[in-house]
Amino acid sequence: MATIKDFRTNNRPTWCPGCGDYAVLSSLQKACADLGLAPEEVVLVSGIGCSGKIAQHFGSYGFHSLHGRALPTATGVKLANQDLTVIAAGGDGDGYGIGMGHFVHAVRRNIDLTYIVMDNHIYGLTTGQLSPTSERGFKSKTSPKGSAEEPVKAVETAIVNGASFVAQAFSGDVKQMTRLFEEAIRHRGFALVNCFSPCVTFNKVNTYDWFKEKLVNVDEREDYDPTDREGALRLLHETGGVVTGVLYKQERPVFHEEMIGASEVATVKVDLQLKEEDTQALL
Ligand code: SF4
Ligand code: MG
Repeated sequence: MATIKDFRTNNRPTWCPGCGDYAVLSSLQKACADLGLAPEEVVLVSGIGCSGKIAQHFGSYGFHSLHGRALPTATGVKLANQDLTVIAAGGDGDGYGIGMGHFVHAVRRNIDLTYIVMDNHIYGLTTGQLSPTSERGFKSKTSPKGSAEEPVKAVETAIVNGASFVAQAFSGDVKQMTRLFEEAIRHRGFALVNCFSPCVTFNKVNTYDWFKEKLVNVDEREDYDPTDREGALRLLHETGGVVTGVLYKQERPVFHEEMIGASEVATVKVDLQLKEEDTQALL
């Protein structure tokens, strides 16, 4: 059986010391090992940004895709081979900026994959510009007088558009993050885990301490019902979204089964196989 070491690579991450993305990487490695997955059963598709480098450091099949295009790439992987465990990963700028259209459509289709967003409320790779999740008033290189924009409410967007699993994690709590990744990967359907992953170099506001002071952990609340959609939206409104745990989940049909049907999927696979053989014959 694969261990956490099997999900590691020899590449040394170039993330800044203390970056929240380290915790995301190690939690994901542990979650996959704990679930008994083998590296060859997993595909990690990443977008562009500091967070996008995660595919280079994760010991499975990987695809470092284009800016904002991790989800359509991951969707293609899943539709081509439903036996794979498909994970897409990226940052808030990547996923909720240029990739926002793909995000909403993957959610409403209930594509059977896990989407991990390393949300640091800033663009880190390009050295500190306003991102879609930066708070109103946030000062950055591109908003020296403070942001005049409302932050994108990504998890609310996922819930109202029919997401079947929505959770939030924090890089300061690796244990909870690992457990949430495991639950998200086990879930059948689109599973979003928005991770508060501090950028220690360029975001001096939303720090580890800032999150620790504010975070509400719903997993510790016995009276919280994650199947109550209105309750989840109410909680997000009341906490300003600074909340961790499983916020919402529901069971509903996954895209590749409802849209294509299991027998037709098998036919598509055979057709692809034949084409491959034809191509070989021509070589
Ligand atoms: Fe992490 Fe920020 Fe450094 Fe990028 S710039 S590696 S997000 S700390
Ligand atoms: Mg970011």
